[in-house]
Amino acid sequence: MTDYHVTCDCGAVGMSLTGEPRVRGHCHCQACRTLLNTPYHSVNAWMPEQVRITSGEADLIDFQHPYLKMRKIYCGKCGEVMFNTNAMDWRVVSQHLMAKNNDGILPDELKSLSHFHYGGRVIDVVDDLPKKE
Ligand SMILES: [Zn+2]
Ligand SMILES: [Zn+2]
Repeated sequence: MTDYHVTCDCGAVGMSLTGEPRVRGHCHCQACRTLLNTPYHSVNAWMPEQVRITSGEADLIDFQHPYLKMRKIYCGKCGEVMFNTNAMDWRVVSQHLMAKNNDGILPDELKSLSHFHYGGRVIDVVDDLPKKE
């Protein structure tokens, strides 16, 4: 079973991820845009039991968005988002965080397999991945 370990920018918060993510993709939904101020969100989504905070729990801020059924969990010292949750309470982890913790390279087995909510996009992406509405 694969284990990944990542830390936030300042190193206070550590997090481990076990196994394979449930979803690997680029999400173009409005909720991701609203929560994270990004045109789309490149993610790996994990089940709650696959994700464990290994250090810095006291520094974590668990922010419930005022109207989305989403939370943003970030380091209170450096502001790095460790994950956000979706309506199913999955742990949605940015692929950028995974790459940053691996010498800037996203492991092949974490790369996106598709785009989703592509119909709601605000930016076109030209690649060979399937585009799902
Ligand atoms: Zn930090
Ligand atoms: Zn989304």
